[in-house]
Amino acid sequence: MDKKILSMIKEIVGEEYVTNNPEIVKGYIYDETALPVRPRAANNILLVKPANTYEISEVLKLANKEKIPVFPRGGGTGLVGAAIPTVDGIVLSLERLDKIEIDKDNLMAIAEAGVTLRKLLEEAEKAGLFFPAHPGDESAQIGGLVACNAGGSRAVKTGVMRNYIRGLEVVLPTGEVLSLGGKLIKDNAGYDLAQLFIGSEGTLGIITRAIIRLYPKSKFMATLVIPYNNREEAFKTVPKILQSGIIPLAIEYVERKLVEKTANSLGMKWPASEGEYFLMIIVSEQSENSLYEVLERLADICTSNGSLEPLIADTRREQDSILKIRSEIYTFLKPESIDILDVTVPPANVLDLIKRIEKIANEYGIEIPVYGHVADGNLHPHILRIDGWSMEKYKEIIGKIYSEAIRLGGTITGEHGIGAIRKEYLLKFKSAKEIELMKELKKLFDPNNILNPDKVIP
Ligand SMILES: Cc1cc2nc3c(=O)[nH]c(=O)nc-3n(C[C@H](O)[C@H](O)[C@H](O)COP(=O)(O)OP(=O)(O)OC[C@H]3O[C@@H](n4cnc5c(N)ncnc54)[C@H](O)[C@@H]3O)c2cc1C
Repeated sequence: MDKKILSMIKEIVGEEYVTNNPEIVKGYIYDETALPVRPRAANNILLVKPANTYEISEVLKLANKEKIPVFPRGGGTGLVGAAIPTVDGIVLSLERLDKIEIDKDNLMAIAEAGVTLRKLLEEAEKAGLFFPAHPGDESAQIGGLVACNAGGSRAVKTGVMRNYIRGLEVVLPTGEVLSLGGKLIKDNAGYDLAQLFIGSEGTLGIITRAIIRLYPKSKFMATLVIPYNNREEAFKTVPKILQSGIIPLAIEYVERKLVEKTANSLGMKWPASEGEYFLMIIVSEQSENSLYEVLERLADICTSNGSLEPLIADTRREQDSILKIRSEIYTFLKPESIDILDVTVPPANVLDLIKRIEKIANEYGIEIPVYGHVADGNLHPHILRIDGWSMEKYKEIIGKIYSEAIRLGGTITGEHGIGAIRKEYLLKFKSAKEIELMKELKKLFDPNNILNPDKVIP
């Protein structure tokens, strides 16, 4: 980078927050995407760590003028290479924007972009409130969670990031600062631009602050592990639960062969000794009586739909350990994985999807482990490494799984996003007009294409 520009950046954020030292930079140019499909980072990267919105705005004005690519970075936990700087430029880490304030009366958190999910959960709890969503890795940051519209297991009752965000502060690639929405439950003043930034994966603007809706602390929570010997019965129970009027925080689907191995790798134990297929249900209620009433009704629904005896975990420790095992399946499978998919269909079609994935696996004589957020219709099939196979062969299988999801009325990604590694598939599954409009929007917000330039849009 030109020496003059480098010294201008140092002047904006302070010399100690700018570096191109490869030993430091290397911690900021990868994410959690499976290695075989993870994009390569470019060689000439300048790491910049601004302290506030003003500094970000000044850096972007300069980058826009000089046409230097800028890659916003949160916790680096993304799964599609979206934060990886694939061309020379600036990695802009939001980690120093780490302030959070809880507004108890409005039940909202005002969090800067670099606040981690862990900190949001803790601060909400300290204030006697609750942030229900739980995308698996608590080191993800608010900016990244918003930019990816993250979901996770606890999305059944209160939704994904998009459903929590009431306001955003965003710096545009041209340096202007937008303050969108507010501590409002209702706001119909024109187009909802904040929603456009949610899920934009760092391509339209840098999120610096978010106003996040919180919920009353769930005083009584329990996790049920419901074993089945028959997979169809497990899937068919899910709509029965929702139709009964019980809306749990989470309804997850896992299989014994996966959870046992994951638990062993963590030095833990999966609590159920019977059954091959499991629903894992998290419920939260405001009183002990209503919790036990709901648990009883759930147990009745499940057993009358073919389950074995449900297991109830009601201590915090037991529940945390079940959630931990579920959250770590990805990490356990990762070393053997070529790619982790995120296909999503209308919830009632999820059994068909899993059967079609199994058919594809049988066709190729391979195993495709599947688990996921069953009540959201969102599954994570893992494509595992097979000796001697080419990337083309894996892509053929991925293409077939995507086609089946689309045929069932679904989408190629329900929560992880497009990033760098799914762009080619977007072209195949979105209409030409939709892609054209996305390109026009990108041009409108980022006329010089400096912000996360080669992501999302094919
Ligand atoms: C073990 C594990 C489990 C996971 N489970 C889930 C899950 O259940 N559900 C789910 O949805 N995801 C899950 N994820 C994926 C990941 O945690 C989410 O995608 C998360 O939202 C990424 O946040 P981050 O801060 O790490 O973002 P990063 O990886 O740093 O960045 C992701 C994208 O956001 C952009 N970005 C980051 N900060 C900003 C900002 N301030 N402004 C604008 N753009 C920004 C980046 O440029 C990039 O495009 C999981 C990941 C792991 C490793």
